[in-house]
Amino acid sequence: MPTVMIVEDEEPLVLLLRYNLEAEGYTVESCARGDEAELRLSEQLPDLLILDWMLPGLSGIELCRRIRSKPNSQHLPIIMLTARGEETERIRGLATGADDYVTKPFSTPELLARIRALLRRAKPEVVSTLLRAGDIELDRTTHRVRRATREVHLGPTEFRLLEFLMQSPGRVFSREQLLDGVWGRDVYVDERTVDVHIGRLRKAINRGRAKDPIRTVRGAGYAFDDQFASR
Ligand code: CA
Repeated sequence: MPTVMIVEDEEPLVLLLRYNLEAEGYTVESCARGDEAELRLSEQLPDLLILDWMLPGLSGIELCRRIRSKPNSQHLPIIMLTARGEETERIRGLATGADDYVTKPFSTPELLARIRALLRRAKPEVVSTLLRAGDIELDRTTHRVRRATREVHLGPTEFRLLEFLMQSPGRVFSREQLLDGVWGRDVYVDERTVDVHIGRLRKAINRGRAKDPIRTVRGAGYAFDDQFASR
């Protein structure tokens, strides 16, 4: 499920949002300072960011600008929380680059609807239960994978690995990023473990002479080949 990061210094609001988002199945991270959020975003990006404009450390407006100026985060979906009244217009006028603006006080169902709408628009692959590329189809609800007419049987790690790669076609992930994203940050496993599981995944998915959808990028890592479907 998608990860949402909330950057907001009003703790009761964070708790309320966290509760409601987790109830809908989102993974929630939160941060109360703008400068701390910037640091965390440089390490790992959520699928969507909820950003308050008034923050200690670094304002939401400035943080939004910095996020947009970096190549790895320029397309990060951002909903900016603004105060009621003219500030909203002023912030929009500042062209911070947020995708959507929600004025406080807001209704939680409305914010949730805006989050869903933005994710569907900006990251359909994280909200859809079916991931498709070429003749490969991965169903996140039933944990089934098909290639053309054949059912592909994958172990749980290979399934998560394929799901993770298919979510961002074309993007090259280092072994370390794959370990973080697939195995989780708290698990210690050797980076070579990634190679072993990539090998198993390839073997299962490319039976016979099928095209290999996984690209090995020397010195960098692995990617789901975004040209795979058209080759
Ligand atoms: Ca605030």
